[in-house]
Amino acid sequence: MQAVLLGPPGAGKGTQAERLCQAHSLLHLSTGDLLRGAVTAGTDLGVEAKGFMDRGELVPDSLVLALLEERLAKKTSDEGFLLDGFPRNVSQAEALAAKIGDDTIDHVVYLKLDDDQILQRLLKRGRKDDTEEVILNRLSVYRAETEPLVAYYRERGLIRDVDALGTVEEVHKRLLDSITTGGAASC
Ligand code: AMP
Repeated sequence: MQAVLLGPPGAGKGTQAERLCQAHSLLHLSTGDLLRGAVTAGTDLGVEAKGFMDRGELVPDSLVLALLEERLAKKTSDEGFLLDGFPRNVSQAEALAAKIGDDTIDHVVYLKLDDDQILQRLLKRGRKDDTEEVILNRLSVYRAETEPLVAYYRERGLIRDVDALGTVEEVHKRLLDSITTGGAASC
């Protein structure tokens, strides 16, 4: 299976991606994790990416694509994967389609959460890039750049809507239902 997990910051993408990857033996590909790894390792790419991440802005496509390609090159050809945090804009989605083929994505799961809940969850999370100012910036970047992907993938018949409100277990179960039945989950 080749799948994408979409949703606003704070929707629980990282947690749900890990659970889903365990359940389906998928490779979890998180561009946020790859970028944080590059920052920690102090690579040139990490140094360049850091400022964008600290401000809650998107890291330039060329850097993210380079990192993802490097990681994809290491995976075996029959290994399924779940992309978490990528694509983040339409041009990344187009680059992905060009790289792995237009019709090789099986599902795009869209974790839905309303604005109040997003803010509450992010403020509670307390990650280094989760100050109020950065959170608001990440939200506006999400609306402008990433949300259009929902329409992009919906037009292609790939979107599975999943309500992100509830416990980790509840959301995990909805997510599993949505990809195994192939239809939209409760929302
Ligand atoms: P995340 O862990 O997915 O919330 O990502 C943390 C930060 O990494 C984001 O706020 C962006 O600055 C950067 N980032 C992660 N994935 C991408 C991507 N696909 N394109 C551009 N920037 C990204």
